[in-house]
Amino acid sequence: MISDEEFALIRQIKSRRELEHIETLAALGDRFVGTEGDRQAIAYVTQVFDELGLEIRETPIEVPTFLDTAPPVLTVANTGERYDAITPYFSPSTPPGGLSAEVVPIIGGQDSDYQGTDVSGKIVLLMEVEGGFSMFWLGTFAERAAARGAVGLIIIHPMPWPYRMSMEAGNSQIAERFCARRLPALCLSALDGARLMYEIGRGNGLVHMVCETLIEDRESVIISGFSRGSDGSDERIGLIGHRDNGIAPGANDNLSGTATMLELARVLSPKQGKRGFEFISSTAEEGVTIGAWSYCQQHKDDLRQNMKALIDVDMIGVGGRIKQVERGLWPDCEPLVQPDWLMDLVDEVAEELGYQFGRMTAGWGVAESGRFLEIGVPATWLWAPDDPYYHSVEDSPDKINPINLKGVSDVVAIVMWRLANP
Ligand SMILES: [Zn+2]
Repeated sequence: MISDEEFALIRQIKSRRELEHIETLAALGDRFVGTEGDRQAIAYVTQVFDELGLEIRETPIEVPTFLDTAPPVLTVANTGERYDAITPYFSPSTPPGGLSAEVVPIIGGQDSDYQGTDVSGKIVLLMEVEGGFSMFWLGTFAERAAARGAVGLIIIHPMPWPYRMSMEAGNSQIAERFCARRLPALCLSALDGARLMYEIGRGNGLVHMVCETLIEDRESVIISGFSRGSDGSDERIGLIGHRDNGIAPGANDNLSGTATMLELARVLSPKQGKRGFEFISSTAEEGVTIGAWSYCQQHKDDLRQNMKALIDVDMIGVGGRIKQVERGLWPDCEPLVQPDWLMDLVDEVAEELGYQFGRMTAGWGVAESGRFLEIGVPATWLWAPDDPYYHSVEDSPDKINPINLKGVSDVVAIVMWRLANP
């Protein structure tokens, strides 16, 4: 049963405050790791932690960033028709002056789809045929196309807007992050994809494509705000939300998690439990969560010993039912399994409050919670799948449902409070 003390705790949680965090941070523009937007987001989070009187620790990371240095261009040569396109992150640039080549529809992008088709010197056209985001990890698709001599990739998204994919391989191992070969690539909306297919069908398949991108190592920080427990030890309960975006504004992915984390820092930190709390604002989640990986490597022993549980809130403001990702599958490691006791506690609290969460398996990898599971920290990830605006410029603050924010925040606050007072 929810106690009076717990009710008093969650009465203080205001989704209005969470929306304010989301709107302020979304207005900074691109917050990809190491960008100017990231620097401003660091200053914002640090100020919030500081005003709450939290003990602040910055963990430095140095990781590749990705920027478009010019807007991507895709035009049909014969007609001059233009298409709205987004580069996948970590896509290489086209040669100076851009790339002019014939587009060849290959659609599924598997080995069998290439049979009987010569793509040498051409741009391979793929289409998400297995549902929404099945080609997100584009690296192996690019590798298959490059191995056959293709010079570029175009991917048609099933939504009415393009989205940002990743030129990574989709492996968990950082060393296996990229395939040997990458191709310049562009993602189109379903609507522009249909227009392009029409042009190809009437013999206008020659296109001009420009991607100008920058990939270089940049410094950033994982910011931790600590509030200590009454027992004086380092034992604590962690809450993490990544502040970087795939593409701006990234309101749901993941200012929804960042706002939840900041609001719970405000509500929980003045209350001293037996164990303390660590509120974590991470970055470089985008891609294979190299930020969280680096954080876990740098603090492995401490985290293993003292972080008794971690809750990862990533994309809870838009989409279907809130779920705990009980199993995450990477192609290059054993399944990452979240502990039952922690997921049961979350479900119990949700039910006591009158909510219903679900569970799911993530077949394409794991968010930051996976990096904590890898080093032995019990972790669970709360996620509402099926955000249609995922990694698109449509992921704006107006799409966020404050009822989701409030519901998740209430559950997580009580879970953290109970874990802090075993
Ligand atoms: Zn995310």
